[in-house]
Amino acid sequence: MPADYLKKIAIPSNISTYLSRTLIFITVATTLLIGGVLIVLQTIQFKKISTQKSQDYIEDQKIYIKEIVNNEVSYIVAQNQNFKENIRKKIRQNVMQANNTAEMIYRKYEGMKSTDEIKSLIVATISSLKFENEYEEVFISTLDGIGVYYPRRPEFTGKNMRQFLDANGTPVVMAEINLLKTNLEGFLNYENDTVTSEKVYRTEKIAFVKKFNHFGWYFGSKQYVDNYFPKLREEVAQKISSVRFRHGGYVFLNHTDGTPIVMDGKVYKGDFNLLKKSDDPRHSVFLKELDAAKNNPSGEYFYYRWNKMNDTIPSDKCAYVHLYKDYNWLIGAGFYLDEANESIIKQQTLIRQDQKKSILIIFLILIALLFIETVIIYHFNKKYKSDFERFFNFFFLSQNSFNKLNISKFYFDEFKRAGIAANKMIMLREEIENRLIEEQKRATESDRLKSAFLANLSHEIRTPMNAIIGFSELLEDDSQDSEDRIVFVKLIRKNGDMLLNLINDILDISKIEANQLMVKKRPVKLDQFLIEINNYYTEALLSKKEKNIQFNVNNELNSETLINTDVIRLKQILDNLIGNAIKFTSEGSVSLDVKMEREYVLFSISDTGIGIPPDQQTTIFERFMQSEQAYKMNYGGTGLGLAISRNLIELLGGTIRVESELGKGSTFYFELPVS
Ligand code: ADP
Repeated sequence: MPADYLKKIAIPSNISTYLSRTLIFITVATTLLIGGVLIVLQTIQFKKISTQKSQDYIEDQKIYIKEIVNNEVSYIVAQNQNFKENIRKKIRQNVMQANNTAEMIYRKYEGMKSTDEIKSLIVATISSLKFENEYEEVFISTLDGIGVYYPRRPEFTGKNMRQFLDANGTPVVMAEINLLKTNLEGFLNYENDTVTSEKVYRTEKIAFVKKFNHFGWYFGSKQYVDNYFPKLREEVAQKISSVRFRHGGYVFLNHTDGTPIVMDGKVYKGDFNLLKKSDDPRHSVFLKELDAAKNNPSGEYFYYRWNKMNDTIPSDKCAYVHLYKDYNWLIGAGFYLDEANESIIKQQTLIRQDQKKSILIIFLILIALLFIETVIIYHFNKKYKSDFERFFNFFFLSQNSFNKLNISKFYFDEFKRAGIAANKMIMLREEIENRLIEEQKRATESDRLKSAFLANLSHEIRTPMNAIIGFSELLEDDSQDSEDRIVFVKLIRKNGDMLLNLINDILDISKIEANQLMVKKRPVKLDQFLIEINNYYTEALLSKKEKNIQFNVNNELNSETLINTDVIRLKQILDNLIGNAIKFTSEGSVSLDVKMEREYVLFSISDTGIGIPPDQQTTIFERFMQSEQAYKMNYGGTGLGLAISRNLIELLGGTIRVESELGKGSTFYFELPVS
């Protein structure tokens, strides 16, 4: 399954691969993410700054071209004034020259020649005056408006010119006469819009007149400003064409009629008209230029697209245009909007370089991080593998041993904790296994004991039964005398008692196992009881010829002492212990000592018998248990007496213990509470 395969690659089952892949993935992802975010932020910041810069640049450039255009307009205004001033100077100079000349002639010939001769001399002299150019002249008229001398219009001589209208319909002579009525001299300005079929243009004429009082004359000189205009135009065009500003910018100068004066930074001499050639790209630009100038003649921006030099794709351009009304000139300058980008591009290149550096640094950091990670992972792997190895070995060995982990050798705390838990587990297992072995041993022993018990039991039953049957048979024999018969009956009775005791023991042990053994306590005095015991065993030993045993009871109790106990069970206990002492002693003594010890009555039964090995001094109190000696030497018995006695003593609120030396004898101690 490809999905499973991919899952396995993405989430490997090996811890070290998983860890290293995860770490490397996180490192690479984090570094790339941080790097990417930084670069994106840098780019966004740059774009923001760029836009701002671009806007600032455009605003700045707009102000700049406006200043340039305004400068040129100021220059034209100044030039224009200058130019008119020159004309005025010139015509005045001409008039003054004529006036001075006439004055000289008059003075020279006054009284010598007739007035007419002088007049003719003056006219002749003035007509011979030389001026700078062909348009210049000085005319003479009387203060009444009768033509005296008009160099270009000889027909005016002697004619009344007061009603004369010039080409623009202005009564120029009348105006001159009127001026001189109040002034000796003065300038006259005539401005007219001349309408032709193609265009409307303004013509301006300047005249200067001065009275020549001797003959009632005045001299005058006039100039059409237009006559000098080409010169002005040329000067302005030259000046403007030489203007260059940032990024090769230039100033253009067009007439509103579409005639280019300065185009593409050069004085234009051809006959191209921007209005007429509508298929020329400059045509539409010129229309925009005109529109802008119409909207705001004192200066307006307009936008268009224009090819840069050596560029085929047009770029956005902004231009500022000012209409110079005197000549209907459009003066303007423009700049490419994307010029702003040049500096931005430079900055962009710098930022790109910075970004490249950043990427390199991020890459180097990444490599360094990966290297550090590799070292860390290597060390981690080494340590965790060695910890794991320890665990593997431990589990392997602990299959059949109780081998424990050396916790101090673990590197990681988690392993240490796991190691402690594992050691505890092993200890527990060891304990359980030991207990099981012990239990098993005990079970085997118990089995063995039960078999021995059964063997002993059958012996213990058969012996008195044989005696009872044997003596009963003898009783059946009539030949027996009566004395023998009494002995036989006693023997039958004795063996019957033995059997009954045995059955009682078996019953008691069953009750013990069923937790049903009961005691009935009542206050008793032990004096008589102990005397009876003494009598009973002294007598019993006398009949046992094979035993050479002294029996005595040492009662140290106060005769008034009352003890709260079950006297029948106490007798049973003492019978068991004294019986055993006698049984396991062939000669010497058996004694019962009774004394007070604090609130207890302490019973000690001592003998000089075979003794009990130390390792069996506790086990003999368990049911069916017999010491090795007793077993080997075939003493018989069932191994129930001590078990019953211990249980009875405990029920009566006491404890039992034994002190014994092998071959020398034993002393069983038990104590019972007084109350
Ligand atoms: P039994 O006497 O019927 O075997 P008991 O429970 O009375 O059973 O005694 C258990 C065992 O304790 C005896 O078999 C014997 O090995 C040991 N024992 C008890 N009393 C003495 C004693 N006085 N001297 C030596 N061994 C004794």
